[in-house]
Amino acid sequence: MSTTSTAELLLQLQGIDYQLGELERSKGYLPDMIENLKAEIRTAEDELTNTKKTREERHLDKKQLELTIEDATVALAKLKDQMTTIKTNREYDALSREIDHKKEELSRAEDELLAVMGELEELEQKLVSSERDRGDIQKSNDEQLQAIQSEMDSVGTKIKIKENERKNILVRLEAPVVAAYERIKRGKGSAVVAVRKRACSGCFKALPPQLVQEIRRGEQLITCDSCGRILIWEDED
Ligand SMILES: [Zn+2]
Repeated sequence: MSTTSTAELLLQLQGIDYQLGELERSKGYLPDMIENLKAEIRTAEDELTNTKKTREERHLDKKQLELTIEDATVALAKLKDQMTTIKTNREYDALSREIDHKKEELSRAEDELLAVMGELEELEQKLVSSERDRGDIQKSNDEQLQAIQSEMDSVGTKIKIKENERKNILVRLEAPVVAAYERIKRGKGSAVVAVRKRACSGCFKALPPQLVQEIRRGEQLITCDSCGRILIWEDED
């Protein structure tokens, strides 16, 4: 077994370990993503339900105000009729006050009716946009939910495949090399790094030209003096 292949195998191992880590992490965040997407749909539905409910309430308010206006108009007409039959100033004053009072009541109800009708118009517009938003969110989130669900369903299988690949690499490596790899990985996150611009790309320490040549030849496993990571030669573009 040449040492070039040892470094390359370690690099492959590192790639697999990274993918395994990502797969394990996805087990944690995929359910959260599903919850968030479902919550978004629920929020859009609640928004629509609330708008509809408010519209029903305003319709009832409108009917109530229309009745109030009708009653007040009839009552006002009656009061005005009574004006023709009064005999004393005192009666006149009392009736005038009653008419003024009724007029105020009528005008207040008319103002409220206008406000309610304006509100109803806005609610109709809001209803259209709420319906559209709900439809858009439902469609888009359902698609994402499906994709995430199938991703979740396949995580277990993907992990098994990666673990198999890992085993196949491990049998080709010597135990002390694997132990060193694991130790550096625990301490540094990534155990194998490439030489970039004649420096260790893990800690950026410049490497002596002779060492760079040795790494390039790949006859032995070389670690960085500064950070301890395993150095590998990769052709730079
Ligand atoms: Zn280094």
